[in-house]
Amino acid sequence: MREKWKKRILVTGGAGFLGSHLCDRLVARGDDVLCVDNFYTGSKANVAHLLGKPNFELMRHDVTFPLYVEVDEIFNLACPASPVHYQHDPVQTTKTSVHGAINMLGLAKRCKAKILQASTSEVYGDPEVHPQNEDYWGRVNPIGIRSCYDEGKRCAETLFFDYFRQHKLRIKVVRIFNTYGPRMHPDDGRVVSNFIMQALRGENITLFGDGEQTRSFCFVDDLIDAMLKMMDTPDDFTGPVNIGNPGEFTMKELAEKVLRLTGSSSRIVHKPLPSDDPRQRKPDLTRARQHLGWEPSIPLDVGLQKTIDYFSSTLGR
Ligand code: NAD
Ligand code: UDP
Ligand code: UDP
Repeated sequence: MREKWKKRILVTGGAGFLGSHLCDRLVARGDDVLCVDNFYTGSKANVAHLLGKPNFELMRHDVTFPLYVEVDEIFNLACPASPVHYQHDPVQTTKTSVHGAINMLGLAKRCKAKILQASTSEVYGDPEVHPQNEDYWGRVNPIGIRSCYDEGKRCAETLFFDYFRQHKLRIKVVRIFNTYGPRMHPDDGRVVSNFIMQALRGENITLFGDGEQTRSFCFVDDLIDAMLKMMDTPDDFTGPVNIGNPGEFTMKELAEKVLRLTGSSSRIVHKPLPSDDPRQRKPDLTRARQHLGWEPSIPLDVGLQKTIDYFSSTLGR
């Protein structure tokens, strides 16, 4: 029989980078965790260490199909996040965000579960407002190569707020800014893993465009703290709320940092800038500070070193 004090928590995309860290924290806390993943970009290896735990269960399932389970809370993270991967099968990317949201919202409605959506800073597109706050509606190209991800996530937010208004669901929406750390896939294709792997292998560092575009990078542990806090906010707080680290760097600065921290003699080479690549990105964290009482604490140099150590150890294996 189930222990009544334990929460039953569903994590979709739980075998991915962020999802696996979230599962770690929930399992350690004593909740009953159901991790659902179709292993499109995630892997069993990310959660292999949890498989023997009595309060952890792994299920292969694609969220574009209905799912009938009994849960109290849902963290909806299923969706490839790297441009290389989400552009590989763009139709499936939109389906994952939109049909996935419908199915998980339907599940939340039937179970009266609370549900959190992992949305993204990409809803702001290539922004004219800087830093981005949650009241900014964004500047997204609806027909470009990034649209399957950006518009899929925007539509998922629409669905969350319509289920909130129409069906009185308890919803939470977080807009995650670029996050990095151990368990990113070495071939993930995102900038932090690319630069580190290139530096460690002595390959050229591929800097897209002039390298003057900016991003603000958050270490995974800080991000998971914020997600957990968000789920526990009062029911009348839905978000959306930005979570990320406000430290803003150009991609050129990031490449130089990675070279310095790895001591690599790799060369920086320029490659064409992909279309619709946002010029700048930095979260306004006012709302997160106010409602979550949260502030990221891990500076980029410290987080990068931890990530470099992780990738070094995978190379040794
Ligand atoms: P990830 O690619 O490592 O994880 C995504 C997980 O979802 C993978 O395990 C993948 O196999 C799974 N998945 C994909 N499609 C699925 C489907 N149809 N059914 C079931 N599982 C499916 O990426 P991540 O960085 O861990 O991102 C997790 C979530 O956070 C995503 O929703 C992403 O959009 C969001 N997010 C991440 C970042 C970031 O910087 N890491 C930024 C903004 C938003
Ligand atoms: N759904 C699900 N699990 C559930 C309940 C619903 O996967 O436990 C899916 C189901 O496929 C449905 C969708 O969620 O189409 C939306 O559910 P909702 O109840 O909002 O709408 P309806 O069933 O009327 O289409
Ligand atoms: N980028 C780069 N080299 C790479 C991969 C990415 O210069 O090998 C750049 C990319 O053009 C973008 C930034 O780094 O300006 C962040 O890219 P990423 O794919 O990590 O995330 P997103 O563009 O979704 O923020």
